[in-house]
Amino acid sequence: MARVVLISGSNAPAADSLLSQARGMVDSRIGKVVCASHLYRSRAWGFDAPDFSNQVLVAESSLSPDAVLDALHEIENSLGRDRRREEREKAATGQRYASRPIDIDILFYDREVIATQRLTVPHPLMAERDFVLDPLAEVMGDFVHPTLGKSIAQIRKQRSKA
Ligand code: ATP
Ligand code: CA
Ligand code: CA
Repeated sequence: MARVVLISGSNAPAADSLLSQARGMVDSRIGKVVCASHLYRSRAWGFDAPDFSNQVLVAESSLSPDAVLDALHEIENSLGRDRRREEREKAATGQRYASRPIDIDILFYDREVIATQRLTVPHPLMAERDFVLDPLAEVMGDFVHPTLGKSIAQIRKQRSKA
């Protein structure tokens, strides 16, 4: 069994309900959710859009990292994520990101370091994102990041001083 740490996010009007549905689907399709943060509300990161809700989920999974990613994409699709619409929105606005009903990223897969064409784990932008570090610190502040060599609490503290 691997310990998989995920972050879900939504900026749809029904964000909190979508995150709750996503949590249920992660539990049934990826593995038992053994820990979940509260929901955190934050400004859209990297583009102009309605606020996001985010939640960190920790699941015990027998799936490989690639199979987890496939399952996440299926969950996103079934909760209404439409990547082609997002591409059109990004082209129209010139922004790097588009609103989405649900996005779920892999933050950690045990302590593995993965760099393939479709998967980078640990997630490369987490240390720059308060909306990731805040819920992550709530559930696993003492976890030492496998490549940065610092705990989540330390990374968060240094970021807030910067
Ligand atoms: P960001 O990575 O900046 O949060 P995003 O989540 O909006 O961006 P998506 O459009 O959801 O980006 O995903 C684009 C691709 O990112 C996915 O198809 C997937 O192959 C790849 N990817 C790479 N590493 C990860 C990861 N750790 N978790 C989820 N997807 C990843
Ligand atoms: Ca993301
Ligand atoms: Ca994503």
